[in-house]
Amino acid sequence: LSTARSASTATMETTYIMIKPDGVQRNLVAPILERFLAKGYILRGLKFMNVSKSLAETHYSDLSAKPFFGALVDYIISGPVVAIALEGKDVVAQARKLIGATNPLASAPGTIRGDYSIEIGRNVIHGSDSVENATKELALWFSEGLVDNNPVLRSQTFADRP
Ligand code: GDP
Ligand code: MG
Repeated sequence: LSTARSASTATMETTYIMIKPDGVQRNLVAPILERFLAKGYILRGLKFMNVSKSLAETHYSDLSAKPFFGALVDYIISGPVVAIALEGKDVVAQARKLIGATNPLASAPGTIRGDYSIEIGRNVIHGSDSVENATKELALWFSEGLVDNNPVLRSQTFADRP
């Protein structure tokens, strides 16, 4: 059963995207942001920040029993990240498609991980995996709230407007 939604029924969503420390150190912030913004998603949050160990552990709490959990937390706190909130139709699932599979060896060329990474432990970017988790992650990383970004300009296509 396909979970894809048609354009007419797709819901407006906001997802949490994070350029991980390796992506920042490798100067991939601009090319990664360019992909999402050029596609048409709307920025609702953007910040450059260091991550505390407790924030990293909370973000990845679902993976706390995994053998790589300690290494994952150390990776995420190894340098600053770029936290991003993006809004658009079906953006949670669509962003995961643009990001590619978790293991870069399985991520298709043309995806962010497929183009920019080799190691699963250095896969440059995070994206929420469900609307429910996006809501949780946005509350965790953007507890101050999101930015109301030009709702009038994007509420209809320009052709619809007088
Ligand atoms: P994602 O949603 O595609 O990011 O994948 P997961 O939620 O399953 O895992 C979160 C992150 O943990 C991944 O993006 C990887 O950075 C890391 N990770 C997942 N599996 C492994 C693994 O087997 N080994 C290591 N070292 N890291 C892993
Ligand atoms: Mg995940």
